[in-house]
Amino acid sequence: MKISLLASGSKGNAVFVESGDTRVLIDAGLSGVEIIKRLNRIGVDGKDLHAILVSHDHSDHTRGAGTLGRKLKIPLLVSHPTRQGCEGLLKKTDVVEFESGSSFVFRDLLIDPFPITHDAIDPVGFTIESREGRIGFATDLGIVTRLVTDKLAGCRMVVLEANHDEEMLLNGPYPWHLKQRIKSKHGHISNNESMQLLGDLLHEGLKGVLLAHLSEVNNSPDLPHAAATALLSSQTCCSPRLVIGNQYQPSEMLAI
Ligand SMILES: [Zn+2]
Ligand SMILES: [Zn+2]
Repeated sequence: MKISLLASGSKGNAVFVESGDTRVLIDAGLSGVEIIKRLNRIGVDGKDLHAILVSHDHSDHTRGAGTLGRKLKIPLLVSHPTRQGCEGLLKKTDVVEFESGSSFVFRDLLIDPFPITHDAIDPVGFTIESREGRIGFATDLGIVTRLVTDKLAGCRMVVLEANHDEEMLLNGPYPWHLKQRIKSKHGHISNNESMQLLGDLLHEGLKGVLLAHLSEVNNSPDLPHAAATALLSSQTCCSPRLVIGNQYQPSEMLAI
């Protein structure tokens, strides 16, 4: 399996996942044109995509989903409530609905959408499993629930949110109500919370950790990078490759 963060942050998110002959995106929060460009930069032709999975209805995850679905004539895999939440965007696209909490098969992938707490209509994380292994994706987490940890346990590569540094958020320029929203159970998790989650996910088969959805205002890539490096070097059970997501360019492609 291969995975690359095409874009990561509050201005737009998209993750490329490939397993065998199947290629999908998780979210399409940039314009369709920009996503195609970024796919080209990692050596992928947009025409080779088979579907777009949608995690929730916020625009930083859905902006280009409808356009890409129509242009590439591929289905959008989306829950019914989320579909209703972005009905306008998805007009005339082929939509395949899933139910949060119920796994389903798409081509040779077993996809398990699981509920997360976030201020969207029906937000989910995903695990995606194939003959090549299992990977996990969880961003836009208000809190790390037991379910999130359980679902991601044993994954060989994980995309985890590391949204903000708590001090930077507290002392930063955002208005108080926005700070409260981000810190709330329906907002985003901090670098510290992300590291606690990562600590619970370490196992000898863990090959890749991709930290995602970093705030440009309330975080700096060096902070989660240093924290994750310290955490990973304090143990000997695994030495996964570490990637920090970027808003402006695709990450390297990680493979298992
Ligand atoms: Zn969101
Ligand atoms: Zn988001």
